[in-house]
Amino acid sequence: MALCKSRCSGGFMALPTTHSQRTPVFHNRHYAPQMQSQANHPDRPIGYGAFGVVWSVTDPRNGKRVALKKIPKVFESITSCRRAYRELRMLCTFKHDNVLSAVDIVHPGHVDLFNEIYVVSELMQSDLHKIIVSPQPLTADHVKVFLYQILRGLKYLHSSGILHRDIKPGNLLVNSNCLLKICDFGLARMEEPNESIIMTQEVVTQYYRAPELLAGATHYTQGVDLWSVGCIFAELLSRKILFQADSPVQQLNLIMDLLGTPSLEDLAKAGASDGATKYILQRPHKAPALATLYNLSNQATHEAVHLLCRMLVFDPSKRISCTDALSHPYLDEGRLRFHTCMCKCCHNMPGGRQYVSDFEPSNPKLFDDSYELNLNSITKVKDSIYKFVLEKQRTSVPLCINMASPSYKSFQRSGVAPQPDKGSSPQLW
Ligand SMILES: [Zn+2]
Repeated sequence: MALCKSRCSGGFMALPTTHSQRTPVFHNRHYAPQMQSQANHPDRPIGYGAFGVVWSVTDPRNGKRVALKKIPKVFESITSCRRAYRELRMLCTFKHDNVLSAVDIVHPGHVDLFNEIYVVSELMQSDLHKIIVSPQPLTADHVKVFLYQILRGLKYLHSSGILHRDIKPGNLLVNSNCLLKICDFGLARMEEPNESIIMTQEVVTQYYRAPELLAGATHYTQGVDLWSVGCIFAELLSRKILFQADSPVQQLNLIMDLLGTPSLEDLAKAGASDGATKYILQRPHKAPALATLYNLSNQATHEAVHLLCRMLVFDPSKRISCTDALSHPYLDEGRLRFHTCMCKCCHNMPGGRQYVSDFEPSNPKLFDDSYELNLNSITKVKDSIYKFVLEKQRTSVPLCINMASPSYKSFQRSGVAPQPDKGSSPQLW
C-alpha cells in the first residue's frame, strides 16, 4: 500500500457507513447548520480512551467530520477532575502534526448542569493497535514512517516537559494517509525534577510498562515513554506484543529473559525497590538474548535492531532519547517520506519542494501547569474548567449538544469500555 496522500489507495481503515440518517448530535443556536453530509455520515461511536468515549460526528458549522470525546463523571473526585482539566488544557495548547489537539470544546450549558466535558478534535480513522491486528500489509516503509512520527510527536511532548505515561498502539491514531497523532493525555503529567518526590506507579498499560516502573521506582523520567516506543517498534516489526505477561512480575521476568539480568548498578540507577532488587538477584542469572530480535521479522535489519536495542535498555539514563533516536540512520527514509508528501511544514514550490529548516521541532515553551496551584477542591476545579471553556468559546461560534438527538441518547449511555489489555496494578514489592 502506498503511503502518500496522492498515491494512497483505499486508506487504512475506512469504517462502513451503513446507518440511516439520524438527527445529529450537535445543534447550534447561533448558526445555520449545514447538514448536507449527514445522510452519508451519521454520528456513531468510534473508540474508547482511558477516560472517555469517542464518537465520529459532523461539525454543523462547516459540515466537516470530527471526533467528539466525552470525558464522563469528571467531577466525582478531585483526582478525576484535575486529570480531566489537565487533559483539556494540554489538548488546547498542543500545536504539532503528530500530537492530537482540540479543535473546540462544546458549550457546557449552565454551570449547575455541568457534569461532563465534550471535546472536539480532528477525526482519525484508525489507530496503530487496529492496524497491527488487521490483515493489512505493513511494509518496512510503513514501520519507518510510523516510528518516525511517534518519535517526532513525543519529542515535542518531552520538550514541553510532559511525560505521556500511556504510550501504546491504541493511543497512536492513524488516518488513511498514514498520518499519526499521539492522543489520550489522561495520564500525562509534567516531569518531576525533584527525585525525592514520589510519583505514582499506576501508569502505562502493563505490556508497555518500563522495567523501572515494574521494579517499583518511585521517581522516573521521559525514559518510560521511550521504553513503550521500543515495545511498539518491535510490535510493528513482528505484529505481536513483545512482552505479553499476565502480571507485573511476569512482565519483568520476560524483559529480563531478553535483556539478561541487570547489574546492581543498573538496578540502582533504575530506582528499583529493595524488594524488587532482592527478587531479581535471587533468580538464576540470565545472559542477554538480544540477537533474538533479528527473528522478529525479515524487516528486522541490522539498523532496525540497533535502534531497538537503544530503546530497550534497563537503566533509563542509558536509554536513547527522542532527539537521539530521530538522528538514527534507520529513520532517514521515514523522515524523507514524511516531509516529501505527508507533512504540513514543507511546501511544493514552482522550483521544487521547499523543506522546512527544522524537521523535528521542539516546543519552545514548557507546558504551563501553574493553573493547578490552589485547585484543592472539586468546586474550585469545576469553576476553573467552566471559565476556561467559556473563554475558549469567545473566539468561535459555540457548539452545543443536541439533547433531542437519538445519537446523543446512545452517546450518553455509552460508558467507558472495559480495557482488557490495561494490565494489573503495580506489584507491591
Ligand atoms: Zn515538512
